[in-house]
Amino acid sequence: MKKPSAIVFFFCILLMGLISCQEKAKRDYPAKPVDFTKVKVTDDFWLPRIKTNQKVTIPFAMQQNEETGRVANFKIAGGLIDEQYKGERYNDTDVYKVMEGAAYTLATDPDPILEKSLDELIEVIAAAQEEDGYLFTPRTAAPENQVVGIGEERWSNLAVSHELYNAGHMYEAAVAHFLATGKRNFLEIAIKNADLLVRTFGPDKLRATSGHQEVEIGLVKLYRITGNEDYLKLAKYFLDQRGKDLNLKIYPEGHRFSIYNEPTQIQAHKPVLEQEEAVGHAVRAMYMYAGMADVAALTGSEEYIHAIDRLWENVVNKKMAVTGGLGARHDRERFGENYELPNLTSYNETCAAIGSVMWNHRLFLLHRDAKYIDILERTLYNAVVVGVSLEGDTFFYPNPLASDGKYRFNKGAACRQPWFGTACCPGNLARFIPSMPGYIYAATGDAIYTNLFVTSQADVPLHQNTVRIEQKTDYPWEGKIQITVSPSQETEFSLFVRVPCWAQNRPVPGDLYRYGEEYEDKPKLAVNGKSMPIDLVKGYALIHRTWKEGDVILLDLPMPVRAVLSHPNVAENIGKVALERGPLVYCVEGIDHDGKALDLVLPEDPEVYAEFDPDLLKGLVVIKGKVLQNGNLKDLTAIPYYAWSHRGVGEMTVWLQSVR
Ligand SMILES: [Zn+2]
Repeated sequence: MKKPSAIVFFFCILLMGLISCQEKAKRDYPAKPVDFTKVKVTDDFWLPRIKTNQKVTIPFAMQQNEETGRVANFKIAGGLIDEQYKGERYNDTDVYKVMEGAAYTLATDPDPILEKSLDELIEVIAAAQEEDGYLFTPRTAAPENQVVGIGEERWSNLAVSHELYNAGHMYEAAVAHFLATGKRNFLEIAIKNADLLVRTFGPDKLRATSGHQEVEIGLVKLYRITGNEDYLKLAKYFLDQRGKDLNLKIYPEGHRFSIYNEPTQIQAHKPVLEQEEAVGHAVRAMYMYAGMADVAALTGSEEYIHAIDRLWENVVNKKMAVTGGLGARHDRERFGENYELPNLTSYNETCAAIGSVMWNHRLFLLHRDAKYIDILERTLYNAVVVGVSLEGDTFFYPNPLASDGKYRFNKGAACRQPWFGTACCPGNLARFIPSMPGYIYAATGDAIYTNLFVTSQADVPLHQNTVRIEQKTDYPWEGKIQITVSPSQETEFSLFVRVPCWAQNRPVPGDLYRYGEEYEDKPKLAVNGKSMPIDLVKGYALIHRTWKEGDVILLDLPMPVRAVLSHPNVAENIGKVALERGPLVYCVEGIDHDGKALDLVLPEDPEVYAEFDPDLLKGLVVIKGKVLQNGNLKDLTAIPYYAWSHRGVGEMTVWLQSVR
């Protein structure tokens, strides 16, 4: 009798192992994005941007990285050249971010020349890595501590040094390169560095965290690729360490780093689980919240989920510009007080907008609620795309909602600039734009989500087969969307089609912005020519049926010109309205109004209408109507906010005085 019981015992262990494996496998976002490599965008809005990013922005940024010595920094650190190190402590990331963007383009458009130049860069990066995995050129290249802020020895000034921030961007780039090419040359560098971090940091080791969040996101990506749970644990450790044992170096008043004396600047004033208000540096906050969402999804921690939900409520209801831009103050690139949302002086860094898209996307994957995509879409079409010119070679770092044409808000200029000493934003755009198609769809085991409206074709894995989804639309100019669903064999599943909050008489989830009046026309839905009522579930029209090849959904979102008002607590916007149409926020520029924009006043009935202008700024819908200037009625021309600053330096405003 002993033998069978041993066998039973063995099978029990095996079964327990299988169950625990399955439990582990379950711990992730309940929805998975349909990877950008599976979505072919063919529209007139995003495809030109993706192509411009590929043909102009990435080569331009790679060239800037060469010309400004950012690549040389790695060569000096690796002993490949003998020169004086001139870099800043965060310059390594400018190289990593552009490499990440280049890897994404390789994934969809193989290019042997680009691939070879990435391999050459990887060799240079490998040379700069120290024997034990440490990779941070400011220290390795200039061991006598010439680079300010990095601390006398490794990890000795983490609040300021960016050692871990740089590592995070390196991991993201290495994972992107591995996924695009299947090559491990960059990935091995990242793993060697991450293993050093695992050996170095932790409750029983060096207790510390990074002054600039990002390593958490990178570690999670490495965990997903390698399955090494130490990386996930370390990401959580770095988050949990905030608000504890910070050991901040205090700088004298007036020193360039005295901004780091205050732990709110780096969101380390309290443990992350106790933070309720978005404070401090906006980009750091976005990367932290995105990292928290990853940890929440991958560990199932309810506390983490509650904490990020609370922070989201604060940001969306009290701290977000109408464009989706985040970070009210130039001073320390940080959030202001609740409802502190200035226009001329608003900061709204491009990187913070990209970070917000990343964060809101993760919250959607976690909660499967369209309200996160509503914020994502607003941010994407307004606060993100404004960051790069239509030509792809000049950039905004801050994105104010008004300009007098004189205040040089953009690091010394009142218009877009080719490059910056701190070049975080161009690199961030270079890596974000090619990944954009990955935000259009998501799927769970038995449902597909259509989140964004872009003419495209996607292959979505579902059950044991693949569902091809084709979208045809003139979005964001028109609200008619045709979705053709073709499963490889007849299959029953739920299709969730987002009905944007702007089409339901709410510009945003929450009460920070509202429309001036209700609009009567409602969104319409039809399947195979038969109209059907919209069954709204968390902001999605739910269509559950047995789908067969060529089923067609028509969604019609009325797109009137809308006047938007702010919450009365936003002092700057009392008596003002902004114009919107669909997902786009509009602005007025001086060039269309005798050189002036800030003195324009919307009359009580401005008789506005929308009109497509194929010749203006590569083709866009303008809002026409009447406007008052010095008491005289004049023609109004409003253009999408993203398109401003292409016709010379001058006045611009999103918020217009209104006599209403
Ligand atoms: Zn930036």
